[in-house]
Amino acid sequence: MTSNNSSSVLFECIQCGECCNGIGGTYVDDNKIKEIADFLKISKNELKEKYLILSSENRYMIACGSNNKCIFFKENCTIHPVKPRMCREWPFIPAVVKEPENWEYMSQACPGINNKADITEVKKTTVESLKNTRPEKELKKIF
Ligand code: SF4
Ligand code: SF4
Repeated sequence: MTSNNSSSVLFECIQCGECCNGIGGTYVDDNKIKEIADFLKISKNELKEKYLILSSENRYMIACGSNNKCIFFKENCTIHPVKPRMCREWPFIPAVVKEPENWEYMSQACPGINNKADITEVKKTTVESLKNTRPEKELKKIF
């Protein structure tokens, strides 16, 4: 494993599962609901009934299990190939581009984040990373 003390390593996940705690905005749209349901070989309705909850804004998001972790967390993410965008992007998320100081704040919850990293480098990497997950029209709103 590469050391995270170096400022050149921005992030290295140690698989601690801390980011899967609680309900953390893991929203899923209709396409994602179908993708996860197909992956689990269940119907969309079954997925909604057993694994999702509705937010106050009437958007579906992944529910918590009895251990206060994401309901799909069992030692690791059990829907890894189809996990929500928020989970795939972490920690290179839009909030880091908008407010780079969020990187330091996020590092308090995620031990994989190097809080000594050069913030210009963090921002640059985040921009490049988001280009792989966001459509052009969304990128324009972020950058
Ligand atoms: S909290 Fe950070 S280091 Fe831990 S599993 Fe999540 S991304 Fe990886
Ligand atoms: S979908 Fe997977 S990565 Fe995302 S919070 Fe749940 S267990 Fe964690």
